[in-house]
Amino acid sequence: MAMHGNWNPWHGCVKCSEGCQNCYVYYIDEMRGKSGSDIYRTKTGFRYPLSRDRSGRYKIRSGEMISVCMTSDFFLEEADAWREEAWDIMRTRSDVIFLLLTKRPERIRECLPPDWGEGWDNIFLNVTCENQKRADERIPLLLALPFRYKGLYLAPLLGPVRIGRYLDSGQIGQVACGGENYGGSRPCHFDWVKELREECEARDITFCFMETGTTFIKDGREYRIRNKQEQNRQAFRSGMSYQGRPLRFELKNSLGLPIPKEDLYAPRYADKCRECSFRILCYGCGSCGQCDG
Ligand code: SF4
Ligand code: SF4
Repeated sequence: MAMHGNWNPWHGCVKCSEGCQNCYVYYIDEMRGKSGSDIYRTKTGFRYPLSRDRSGRYKIRSGEMISVCMTSDFFLEEADAWREEAWDIMRTRSDVIFLLLTKRPERIRECLPPDWGEGWDNIFLNVTCENQKRADERIPLLLALPFRYKGLYLAPLLGPVRIGRYLDSGQIGQVACGGENYGGSRPCHFDWVKELREECEARDITFCFMETGTTFIKDGREYRIRNKQEQNRQAFRSGMSYQGRPLRFELKNSLGLPIPKEDLYAPRYADKCRECSFRILCYGCGSCGQCDG
């Protein structure tokens, strides 16, 4: 099905750290005979959050969450000329949650729009850290930034990462982690995942173990799991995910007024969702790229 929950205003990226080594954007582009280093503004995709269906309603409903720049990095320097227009779209759709994911938190402050203030209610900023070094570089930057909702993506998880002292800030609402794929198979250890889960659970923060990655080490044994669905299943069965305090986004309509609950999108889930490792993060079949619903 269509990736209803993704908005890619630009495509292509520049590798900037260890986690980029086997970047899936490069992997997918190579399959198509292209290069992930070819960075361009998308044509019809750029204004996707403003597109409407035949009845004139927005295709993305109030209260939905969409992930931004899943085939790039929202704070990429090469995209500086396009970002203001992307912020305009997010300002207009104050009724939709935009999930930003970046490895470049050091660039964020200079890239914020002038009316940012202490942060918009509809933006959920997530920083990716693949090892302790990157966590220690990027998480302090994340904590110093004016965003109302913050999360961490520890993927591909390349080593043990301790985040407890950062979680103690009370600012991190959600943590996700997963092993490596897309031509890469640096191992992910179950013990690293377990430690993260324990740190999150102790603070009642939602933790999602998304997938094992291709090479997964548990109890001293190495498992090679090439099939992504199987990785998902194994991650789910490990029981490592933890539902903590829910994130409550205070979305407003175009007049700046709160949106009544009955007017907000209600997530739908299919049967298969019950055993899906993404369930804990997922906004339902409307946004899923792998479910039939
Ligand atoms: S920042 Fe993300 S999209 Fe960009 S090269 Fe690295 S892994 Fe790929
Ligand atoms: S809609 Fe269901 S199957 Fe798809 S990612 Fe979400 S929980 Fe998983």
